[in-house]
Amino acid sequence: MKILVINAGSSSLKYQLIDMETEAVLAKGTCERIGIPGGKLTHKAKGQEFVIEKEMPDHTGAISLVLKELVDGEAGVISSMDEIDAVGHRVVASGEAFNKTTLVSDEVMKTMDEIAELAPLHNPAAILGINACRAVMPDKKMALVFDTSFHATMPDYAHLYAIDYDDYKQYKVRKYGAHGTSHKFVAGAAAQYLGKQPEELNIITCHLGNGSSISAVKGGKCIDTSMGFTPLAGVPMGTRSGDIDVAAIEFLCVKKGMTMEEGVAYLNKKCGMLGISGVSSDFRDLAKARDEGNDRARLALDMFTYACKKYVGSYAAALGGVDCIVFTAGVGENTPFIREGVVSGLEFMGVKLDKEKNNFRNDGTIHDISAADSRVKVLVIPTNEELVIARETAALV
Ligand code: AMP
Repeated sequence: MKILVINAGSSSLKYQLIDMETEAVLAKGTCERIGIPGGKLTHKAKGQEFVIEKEMPDHTGAISLVLKELVDGEAGVISSMDEIDAVGHRVVASGEAFNKTTLVSDEVMKTMDEIAELAPLHNPAAILGINACRAVMPDKKMALVFDTSFHATMPDYAHLYAIDYDDYKQYKVRKYGAHGTSHKFVAGAAAQYLGKQPEELNIITCHLGNGSSISAVKGGKCIDTSMGFTPLAGVPMGTRSGDIDVAAIEFLCVKKGMTMEEGVAYLNKKCGMLGISGVSSDFRDLAKARDEGNDRARLALDMFTYACKKYVGSYAAALGGVDCIVFTAGVGENTPFIREGVVSGLEFMGVKLDKEKNNFRNDGTIHDISAADSRVKVLVIPTNEELVIARETAALV
């Protein structure tokens, strides 16, 4: 079985074609500048990279170009579209409308339109991608795989905000979380690596990248996560503030003459590492600036590791003890000093890092960076959200 995984953004679209027998990626690529002059498709297959510069007026144009490459004599990996058994779409938010991977139908897409406002930065783009695929491949089975699904198991006392309960019921304002496919993948991979059943383990998964979230996973199920109604909550991120007193936002909006909408855009795009450092949202730039003596870059990094440490500590309490801490994503997989900063001082709860092992060079495999006598395993696991989407799609169809 071959599954095409689609991750659509508003002007870009990523794809992977995965062979489910071997779970090997047959081809992958990115369409850039959809609907903007200067369209470009970068397609990787057969150990080569093919760059196609072609205008893509909309997502349908982008998908058509991707399918053309997949069956192309030189760059292609299949002989016809019939070889694609199903399509899996990444969707950021499901609200309470869907709590698991769902087959696409007209009715499902109607609900998708209704809940688009829950993730205005992401869901409308996913809908464009899904509709484009349905237009180009009308007979193909398609699944929606939601970033929020893995968090659907959070108990009510963990996912609710302490607002008027009737407002929660009417407007569905609650915590949904994000990065669920990544947390699910690394929690499962950790159990497998440790030779245990997921049911036996309490795991804290730290997905640290440009966007970051931390989850508490008990017996394979998420019981809490740091992101909230939207991905703005939790630890400070590349450009997002993370947790903040809402009253401070009202104060800032008044002082800076911003509307509420502008205030939220400010918190999403101009804060976090970028806002504090004034240097960059990229952790590599921040580390360089800090090493050159920039104290605000140092401050941003310290704020990040401190916030992550607090989440790890609070989730250890929520779980009633922890067996394993996992780091993943761009920062989690590549930045030893961040991993060290997050777990340092947690020796009291049985976490002991092996600093030498922690300094490994990322080679895309799992690394155990805990000391031999650490009660808690500390693992670095490369995430693979596309594979989760492909597995869920294959299982459903
Ligand atoms: P992500 O959102 O998961 O793609 O992570 C992006 C973040 O990972 C950026 O802040 C990068 O600075 C950081 N990062 C650090 N080292 C690397 C690396 N070797 N490759 C990719 N991202 C890295």
